[in-house]
Amino acid sequence: MVGYVSTSGSGPVSLEEAVLQSLPPDGGLYVPTRRLEFSWPPPDMVSTAEWAAPLLLPDLEPEVVGSVAADACNFPFPLIELDAGRFVLELFHGPTHAFKDVGARFMANLVSRMVTESGRSVTVLVATSGDTGGAVASAFLGQSGTRVVALFPQDGVSERQRRQMTTLGDNVEAVAVRGTFDDCQRLVKAAFVDEEISQSHGLTSANSINVARLLPQAIYFLDVTRHISEPAHFVVPSGNLGNLCAGLISANAGMPNAGFTAAFNRNHGIADFLRGDPFEAKPSVPTVSNAMDVGDPSNLERIRWLYGNDDDAVRHDVRGDWVSDEETVRTIAEVHARTGYVMDPHTAVAHAAAIRLDAAAFPTVTLATAHPGKFPEVVQRAIGAPVETPLAILEASERNEVMSMIRPNLEELRDLLDRRHL
Ligand SMILES: *Cc1c(COP(=O)(O)O)cnc(C)c1O
Repeated sequence: MVGYVSTSGSGPVSLEEAVLQSLPPDGGLYVPTRRLEFSWPPPDMVSTAEWAAPLLLPDLEPEVVGSVAADACNFPFPLIELDAGRFVLELFHGPTHAFKDVGARFMANLVSRMVTESGRSVTVLVATSGDTGGAVASAFLGQSGTRVVALFPQDGVSERQRRQMTTLGDNVEAVAVRGTFDDCQRLVKAAFVDEEISQSHGLTSANSINVARLLPQAIYFLDVTRHISEPAHFVVPSGNLGNLCAGLISANAGMPNAGFTAAFNRNHGIADFLRGDPFEAKPSVPTVSNAMDVGDPSNLERIRWLYGNDDDAVRHDVRGDWVSDEETVRTIAEVHARTGYVMDPHTAVAHAAAIRLDAAAFPTVTLATAHPGKFPEVVQRAIGAPVETPLAILEASERNEVMSMIRPNLEELRDLLDRRHL
């Protein structure tokens, strides 16, 4: 057993405890007890998911974790070369058309195994700035022993993102919070540290604070090395830093790479930090790449831990950059005019940052985190033509919506959790 310790020092605990409890009682975040190591390169005979998952989560039977991962990654990750040496890695071919399907599906499958074996039930509480809620709701839908409560900022998600949470029913409840994503995230944290709420509902978090959401995201970074022989520089559209953290875990475990760029929208406190400033949490501001509207990213703590709390070592491996809404829209338009490729606003933030890099120095890989059809207003404005809508999203637009509404305080959340779900 490897076990998990808190970045603040407590532990170790088992994988099951780290996953179901989500947050250690000392206020840190769970990380693997020892540094992960890959024996490089990946073997040809098995899929990247089946090879990597047992190395990422060595606490479980390799066959079990391998099959959970293969099931979570049952859609392709196409790598497309837009210009010489400049690639886009499409991570949005899962059921909700966002990269978060990978971590959410892995976690849902794992949690459902854990609760079935122990006869427990859990409430999956999740704060979402856009795509997490839909991915988690879809992944847990119909899983026995689980109830999903997804909190989203009332005015902070697109209609399509909202419908991915409000139209499912069954064991999924969507909750509009009168506030920002940071308010939602604060509420979730408050519910977790409140022992009475947390214990009585068996609260589990499906945000990237949960190791079961975070670790499987390393799989698609590792998969790239099968397709590009030179070490690549990864450009990651970033919000809560879960995706970046998974990439850095892979790099620290031995994945060849030519560095990372964390790309942000106007919520760029981390870009400033990576350029040498002290980090300062700020209230989030709304942008066209709303899943990245995060003022106080939770995974910074894990990234610092990964580098022995040496901020300059983090800055050595990760460049920070940020892109305005105007440039995001312009990038969608320019890439489309030049190559015919249509990207969503989150991907465009990262791609704008990738274009600033010298592609002659190393291949760059922009992570494409959502399907452009999830953001039709922005994308159509940029390219001057309608954008193709994935079928699942069209279907959700025809179903009835059901949601609750609360103010961002713990009492209202407690009342909501206590109300028996139908
Ligand atoms: C969540 C999300 C991001 C940000 O990812 P983090 O892991 O929170 O940094 C970027 N793009 C899209 C489309 C997302 O849904």
